[in-house]
Amino acid sequence: MTITGGCMCRVVRYAVAAEPMATRVCWCRDCQYLAAGSATVNLVFAVSAVAVTGPLRDFASIADSGNRMHRQFCERCGTPVTSSSEARPHLIILRAGTLDDPELARPSLTIWTDSAPSWACINETLPSTPRQPPPVG
Ligand SMILES: [Zn+2]
Ligand SMILES: [Zn+2]
Repeated sequence: MTITGGCMCRVVRYAVAAEPMATRVCWCRDCQYLAAGSATVNLVFAVSAVAVTGPLRDFASIADSGNRMHRQFCERCGTPVTSSSEARPHLIILRAGTLDDPELARPSLTIWTDSAPSWACINETLPSTPRQPPPVG
């Protein structure tokens, strides 16, 4: 199967020839900036399976996990598209909002619930972890 998506203005596009290794809802403080106050929904893939085209800008920072992260967004419309951690260079994360078919994002875990505000709607039917989970892949 091929998963496709891209940014809101469609200048950035991607295609993935793999199923996600994990799909997680993240309430870390950084994600609240990206998602306008809510959590992000993130699909984890092997970087070798993902082909991205278009002008992404990179913002590097130290995440709550202590890892140096690269968050990439469309330089034209600002949509957050990918992120990656220097600690896990073989993985890439795609933001679920960029999927052509958002139904493909079916989270199995909620992470960083310790950082969520008291009014957060957290799916009680999913497992959750208060901080960073063990790495996938
Ligand atoms: Zn764009
Ligand atoms: Zn996060």
